[in-house]
Order: sequence, then C-alpha cells, then structure tokens
Amino acid sequence: MGLTHGSTGKNAVDNGLHIHKRSPEDVVVAVAGNPNVGKSTIFNALTGMHQHTGNWPGKTVSNAQGYFRTKKHSYVMVDIPGAYSLLAHSQEEEVARDFLCFQRPALCIVICDAGCLQRSMNLTLQILEIVPNVIVCVNLLDEAELRGVRVDLELLEKRLGVPVVGTVARKKQSLKRLTALMDAAADHPRSVCSPLPCPNALKTAAAWLEKALPPTNALPLCREWLCLRFLEGEASLVRQTAEACGWSEAEIQQAKSSIATAKEQLAREGISQNSISDSMVAVVHEKAKKLTQGCIHQQGEGGYSRRDRKLDQFFTGRRTAFPIMLLLLALLFWITISGANLISDSLSGLLLRGQDLLSLLFEHFHAPGWLHDACVLGIYRTLAWVVSVMLPPMAIFFPLFTLLEDSGYLPRIAYNLDRPFEKCCACGKQSLCMAMGLGCNAAGVVGCRIIDSPRERLIAILTNTFIPCNGRLPILLSILSMFFVGTEGGLLHSFISALILTGLLVLSIAMTFLVSRLLSKTLLKGVPSSFTLEMPPYRKPQLGKVIVRSVYDRVLFVLGRAVAVAAPAGLVLWLCANMDVQGSSLLSHCCRFFEDAGQLMGMDGAILVAFLLGFPASEIVLPIVMMAYLSTGMLMETGALNEMRQVLLSHGWTWLTAANVLLFTLFHWPCSTTLLTIRKETGSLKWTALAFVLPTIIGIIFCIGFTALIRLLGLV
Ligand code: GDP
Repeated sequence: MGLTHGSTGKNAVDNGLHIHKRSPEDVVVAVAGNPNVGKSTIFNALTGMHQHTGNWPGKTVSNAQGYFRTKKHSYVMVDIPGAYSLLAHSQEEEVARDFLCFQRPALCIVICDAGCLQRSMNLTLQILEIVPNVIVCVNLLDEAELRGVRVDLELLEKRLGVPVVGTVARKKQSLKRLTALMDAAADHPRSVCSPLPCPNALKTAAAWLEKALPPTNALPLCREWLCLRFLEGEASLVRQTAEACGWSEAEIQQAKSSIATAKEQLAREGISQNSISDSMVAVVHEKAKKLTQGCIHQQGEGGYSRRDRKLDQFFTGRRTAFPIMLLLLALLFWITISGANLISDSLSGLLLRGQDLLSLLFEHFHAPGWLHDACVLGIYRTLAWVVSVMLPPMAIFFPLFTLLEDSGYLPRIAYNLDRPFEKCCACGKQSLCMAMGLGCNAAGVVGCRIIDSPRERLIAILTNTFIPCNGRLPILLSILSMFFVGTEGGLLHSFISALILTGLLVLSIAMTFLVSRLLSKTLLKGVPSSFTLEMPPYRKPQLGKVIVRSVYDRVLFVLGRAVAVAAPAGLVLWLCANMDVQGSSLLSHCCRFFEDAGQLMGMDGAILVAFLLGFPASEIVLPIVMMAYLSTGMLMETGALNEMRQVLLSHGWTWLTAANVLLFTLFHWPCSTTLLTIRKETGSLKWTALAFVLPTIIGIIFCIGFTALIRLLGLV
C-alpha cells in the first residue's frame, strides 16, 4: 500500500537530486531496472531498510537512499524508480533518467528479470551508454527456473563486457557475490561507456548540434548522446541540462532554436520526429535481441505459466472478476472485524490498568490535581482510545492487504476497473492509488505519480480521499457495531458489519467514479489516455516477512503518527472542555455555535466540532464527541462500546444520527497530512482548495438530503 516513511516523504529523495553522503569516501550506487524485478528487495536486503516492496509495477515513484558497508567500502545506495527505457515516457522514467544523467553515480547495478531478459537488456544497454561502471544482476532466477528458463550468465558477461551476477533476491545469501563484485567495481571502476550505433543522418545532425549548443562541459555525459536525446524531443531533458549547466535564459533560447534547426534539417531529409525515436528504439531492440540470443535456454512452454493463465481467467474473467473482488473485500473486512473484536477487549483492559498505575504515580509524587487530570484524563485517555480503537483492526487489515498485494492481485484490480474508469475519462491505474488510499490517503496521493497524464493524475488526487483510510475505518466500525449490528461481537455480527462496510466502500468507489466523470467533463476535460500495466506473475507471498514488515512499517508507522497527533490534541481538548467561559466550557460554546448546522445535517453541534477538531487526524473524532458530551470534561474509559452507546443515546443519537456520521466520515475534508501532500503534489493552492471543498460539499449534501428524506418518510 505504499505506506512507508519513503512513500510519505521521509526517506524519499524527491526526484533524486540530493545525495546524502555520510563520508566523502562513500561510493554512490544506483539500483536501476525494469519495474517489479526485485530492485527494492535487493536494496532493502543490502541496506537493512524497508523500502516498499510489492508485486506490482510502478510502486516506487521517487528515489530512496540507504547505506551499506562491506569490509572494503561504504556505499550510499539509491533505489531509483523502475523504468522500461531511458527515453522517458513516464514520471518514474524521468526520475530514473535524471538521476543517472545528472548525479554521476559511481556505480550502477542494473537488476534484470531472468524470465524477461531481452526486455531487461533494452534498459541495460541504454544505461551502459551513459554510466560506465555497471554491474548487471540477473534476478528472479528461481522463478525463471520454475518456468524452465536457464540463463547463461558467463556468455552474457562476455557479450556485455561488464560483470554479470545471478541472484534470488528473496534469499539474502545469494547476494554475496553481488557485494564482492561491488567492491571490485569500486576498486577498479570501468571508465568508458558503450554507445549504441545510430543511423548516419542522425549522427551528422547530432554532431552539428553539439557545436551549436551552449557549453555543456559541466555535465558528465557524452555530448553525442545528449544531442541525440534532444533530437528525439525530450523537452524535460533540455530543462534539466540548462539547470545543471547554469545556462542563462538567452542560452536556453539558443539551445532550443538550435535543436529546432537540426530537426528541420532532418525533416528536409525525410526524417520526421517520430521516425527519429523509432529508429533509436529499433537499434536498442535489435541489439538486445542479438545479445540475448544463445544466452537463454528454454525448456517446455515457458513464458506466461498455465497456472497464471487459469488464475487470470478467474480473477479477471467477465463474469467472475467483480463478484470475486467484492467477496475478497468482504472477507478481508470480516477477518479484520472478528479478529479486532477479540483483541480490543483485552487491549482496553490493559490500557485501563495503565491508567490506574499512572494515577498512582501522580499520587505518589503528590502532583497537583489539575496536572493529573490534564495528563491522565486528557492526554493518556485520548492516546489510549486511539490505540485501543485503531491498533486491532490495523494489525489485522494491513498484513492481510499486504498478502494480497504481494500475491500480485492488485494489478488485476486495476485491470478490472480499467473499463469503468475509461468510461469516466479517467485512468485505470487510479484504482491502485485508491488501494493505497485505503491504508493512508497521503500515501495514495503520492502514489498517483504512477499516472502519466497530468489531467488524469489530478483527477486521481482530487478523488483519493473518497476512499476511507485506516484512520476512518475504526470510526465506521465502532458506529456500525453500536447502532447497526450490535456490540456483542461473534462471527455473525462481524459478518454483517463486514457486509455493511463493503457496501460503504462500494458507495465510496461509486462516488469516485461519479466525481471523476464530473471532473473530466468540466474542469479537467479530456479523453482517457491509454496505459500499459504489466500483469506480474502470481507470486507466493512471503508470509513471515509480510507480517513483520506490515506491522513494523505500516501499523506502527500509522499508529505512531496518530499518537503524535492525539497526545497534544488530547491536552488541547481537555483544556477546551475544562476552560470555563461565562458559565460553560469553551467546547460547549463551540458545540452550541454549530448546533443548527449539525441538526440540519441530521447530527448535532458536538459532532460537527469533533469533525473540525479531528482535522489533524480523523481517528480522534469519536473521542472528541465523547468529551464534548461528558460534562466532566474527560474522556470515558476506553473500549467500552456499550457504555459509549448509552452516552450517545442519552444525547439524542438515533440510527439516523449514526448513519449521517457514517456518511460524513466517508465524505468530508481530507486530514491535514493529506491536504499538505496534495499541495506538494499539485503545487497549487487552487487544486488543494478543491480537494478540500469537493468531498465536504458532497458530504453535506448527502447528510442534508438523507436526513430530509428520512424525516419526510417519518422513519424516525
Ligand atoms: P521492484 O519494483 O523492482 O522494486 O520489485 P520489488 O523488490 O518490490 O519485488 C517485486 C516482487 O518480487 C516482490 O513480491 C518480491 O518479494 C518479489 N521478488 C523479488 N526478487 C525475487 C526473487 O528473486 N525471487 C522471487 N520468487 N521473488 C522475488
């Protein structure tokens, strides 16, 4: 689900323009390769980091750095996004190309897929043109072997002229030879690149352009290569080159007009823009084909396995695809809810005991009463609430979802939803961002970088918050248990909860389609672009690793962030609830202010205030409602849903109030982290404001409309 420090910004090196060396001797190593070939797995195994791995192409959208040391050298490893080619067609490919071109990595490890060697060679050959010191790592040997493919690594090494090593990245010991080769390459770096041949007419045009361009001495790149890329029309490369060489505005104009002149000359010779790119691609393709001929020994049918074909007929078949998707989702929720019910009780008991201990400690040190109340009843209780409500479902949901992701099912969802998205003039890859949004909307928004068309990316960003993130799922679960299913627990109850939750998610998805269509017909007009999303093979997930990683990277990460927000929020809340202004608390004043608006939406002032104060993190919405209701100004004890239900009922809650809270939880403004991420990703206040307003208006309309309808029908 892309939910790691990297995906939410901490370790991500945006567009890879800054390398943080720990010491000047550090050797900078780029880990490059096609998507989904095991780059992040190798990067993680070497650096001990937890870069997001998953069985689908496109999940790494920015560079990540890590450190690794052998007896001889220390390395800064940079995991760059997967690319099929350096002739950048997508944002990931641009990030990868820019890193290799402008950051001078001392060494580049190109990870290849043993089962798709020729395709991997396309990229390898292009990298060899600009990076001299390269190690080729043929990974996924185990999978290839299962498909009857054997690679002659020695012959490949001889033909390429650079070291070649075979690995199975999931087995760490298979990386030993790779690290030995890294040391050797660091000691004796290869210093010459291997340019690819190109047609004479292009060579002449490039030579002319070389002379006409402003100085590019600052660049570590072969000039002919650069000029050929300019002729291919890589506008972003001109921009990056200008920046790296410090060209003035006049020099940029000079470069642009020289490129235009060279292209005109080629056009006069009958070589169009398209045919320039085509002939370059043909050269690479031909060379890769020749290179791999004789290096691959195939036994049996190979290729796309029969098992995968059968599974695909089932998971993506016309009749089966959608029912299976819904069933899997319901199953996921069912296991999550029933498991969470089991854990929550013991957890809340434990946290209550913690509160008693804490109170004893305050008593022991004769702390003043107000300090005890602020810390224990304010901060600790809010924290305990967030932990006991959020932790159990997350601890189950994340590993289960990661298992689905690791098995290769996610891209099948994108494939299934491609058609409906196309009907909405949006991109099928949006469903992958939605899946990431289920974990955390901020990660989902960052994940939208996998969509190439800026128009479709914007649609995906603006609609990502329609999918309830893990901060909102516990609110939905609690309300469902208290008002629609019953708080007794048990398999049947959790089954009904799971069904309703699936229904709510379907509503969110339907809303995503509707708003995507609306946007593409109004503000973001355009036709849907085509995209290629490779279907990875179905892989057996690494159970142990998935559990450890998802708990460590995702559960603790999300929980840590929620706790970081909940602790100060708990204090502020306690203050608001206890600060007396003209006879009643500040919180009560706020609630009264919003009472009319709340009533119109079938809720009340306290609930609206809770949603407003929950802006930093949605998971604190319910604690705030409780604090606003309880005259003592403190949060009730954790986990007791029955007790909580009584409090809510005594404050006028009906099933209609609960239904509106569910609706408004699904559709209201994004949390502050997501909003900041949207601002960063779009670079525009206008779109950020729209991302705030869109779901909010929809939520308000839904609540007002639903309430009016139910009241009109006299159902409450
Ligand atoms: P990246 O997109 O190139 O960074 O690929 P990842 O490192 O995320 O790996 C993609 C998937 O392939 C994950 O499910 C990995 O567990 C799996 N994987 C990586 N290397 C191997 C390998 O050598 N053998 C097998 N069987 N699976 C691998």
